[in-house]
Amino acid sequence: MSPSSPSESVLPQTPVRRVVIAGGGTAGWMAAAAICKLLGRTLEVTLVESEDIGTIGVGEATIPTMLTFHRLLGIDEQAFMAASQATIKLGISFEGWRDPDHRYLHSFGITGKDHWSAGFQHFWMRGRERGLAEDYPAYCIELQAALRHRFAHLSDYRMNYAYHLDAGRYARFLRGISETHGCRRIEGRIAEVITDPDSGLIRALQLADGSTIEGDLFVDCTGFRALLIGQTLGVGFEDWSHWLLNDSAIATQTAAVRPPAPYTRAIAEPWGWQWRIALQHRMGNGIVYASRHVDDDTARARLLSSIEGERLREPLQLRFRPGRRLRSWHGNCIAIGLSASFIEPLESTTIHLIQRGIVRLLQAFPQVLAAPAIAEYNARMDEELQHVRDFVILHYHATERRDSAYWRYVAEMPLPDTLQHRIDLFRDTGTVYHVPGELFAENSWIQVMLGQGIVPRHRHPVPDLMGDEELRGFLAAVRADVERTVDALPAHHDYLQRYCPAAPA
Ligand code: FAD
Repeated sequence: MSPSSPSESVLPQTPVRRVVIAGGGTAGWMAAAAICKLLGRTLEVTLVESEDIGTIGVGEATIPTMLTFHRLLGIDEQAFMAASQATIKLGISFEGWRDPDHRYLHSFGITGKDHWSAGFQHFWMRGRERGLAEDYPAYCIELQAALRHRFAHLSDYRMNYAYHLDAGRYARFLRGISETHGCRRIEGRIAEVITDPDSGLIRALQLADGSTIEGDLFVDCTGFRALLIGQTLGVGFEDWSHWLLNDSAIATQTAAVRPPAPYTRAIAEPWGWQWRIALQHRMGNGIVYASRHVDDDTARARLLSSIEGERLREPLQLRFRPGRRLRSWHGNCIAIGLSASFIEPLESTTIHLIQRGIVRLLQAFPQVLAAPAIAEYNARMDEELQHVRDFVILHYHATERRDSAYWRYVAEMPLPDTLQHRIDLFRDTGTVYHVPGELFAENSWIQVMLGQGIVPRHRHPVPDLMGDEELRGFLAAVRADVERTVDALPAHHDYLQRYCPAAPA
């Protein structure tokens, strides 16, 4: 059973001065860099990591919110990209998800132009009825640029993008920023987490060499081990494996054999999917699968038979459990990263959730620990997680595939009410909605719902006010703008070579 939240009475009323971060993976170093850069002079920040244990070593596709995080930290994009072997990501190519031969892209762009009364999709649907519209993706700059492997920074942030990056190099880059801003790094294995017998709060980390690190606030970035929040404090975990079946992955790296594509590939399998993430000099490859539906050897053989290029690393086997920690902030311990939650990497959302956890912590940073602030943090993080969870489940459930027990199960499984409502609304009216603060905006939902084969039965009547000529002209103008913009872009690879060339690994 999970312990209840410590009440206000056990929380110390002394100022929070000493922050101890346990773990130096992506989560630990992102937290250290942000806390040190933005609050460092008021705090004493220590990070403990163990090279012997190492990091999970995957997690290389991001989403556009990372740019906001980097701006907050004043990170120079060219330096970051060169240091992390980064490439541009304009979206995700979903291959075989609707049916084995179908492909669509979920891009980071906006498709078409909305009208105050109704989204662009209603005008596009009217255009389709009248034989005047091309396919929906034809009206999106990022999507067309992705298909043609082109990219440049455009004025007014007209191209929305994210990155593919080398997770190990990125952590080292952030370590440099953290140490410049005063972070103390300690190498060592945490052997014991010492708690106060009266309050149950964490007092110190004891390392294998016997030394102790005391703190006021502990950030658990120990990955799936969840050494502080789970193993020590016993905060429970809600399992989502009835919606998200995958619980295993195998990852490997290969040398690049072609210029990098500016999108992640997610290639469906009868019991999971494979990813391809192109960096400047190498490719990240992996297979994600449900161990209830396929054995490890079959999954591994499938991955190894479909990768290209010289293998740079032995395949790494990973296990995980989808779900969330019942409270990611408990007493004086806050879990960030894989210790807090895990939704499989289909929409590359974990680094985003790490960043949200860090920014929320910075915004709510306590002078002294206070139960209402902790409850608020947990409630807001839960909302964000649930939204991401629903979006990922959508890709599985809305499918025409019935070729394996895996796809039959996900197509027929009962959904969270929140997701069922979004699907019903779109299917009946062609409309989606966006609650302020939600990660995935209307256009993401529309691209994935249409891509997965959900066809709205009705649409908004406002496009009926346009005659055919007016509608044709409107759609053609949007399309021409997309074409003109994409035609003028350089090849993604050439742009990287000029903008942020990385040294070979
Ligand atoms: P870890 O990387 O596991 O780091 C844990 C740290 O804790 C390490 O430094 C370790 O040494 C330390 N530690 C643990 N125990 C001890 C101890 N006893 N003493 C001292 N130190 C200790 N996310 C994305 O955003 N995009 C993706 O494309 C993506 N792909 C993924 C693919 C797969 C198959 C999986 C499983 C995850 C993926 N993720 C992705 C998630 C991504 O891996 C994580 O967001 C990211 O790596 C952060 O991990 P972490 O820092 O929480 O944990």
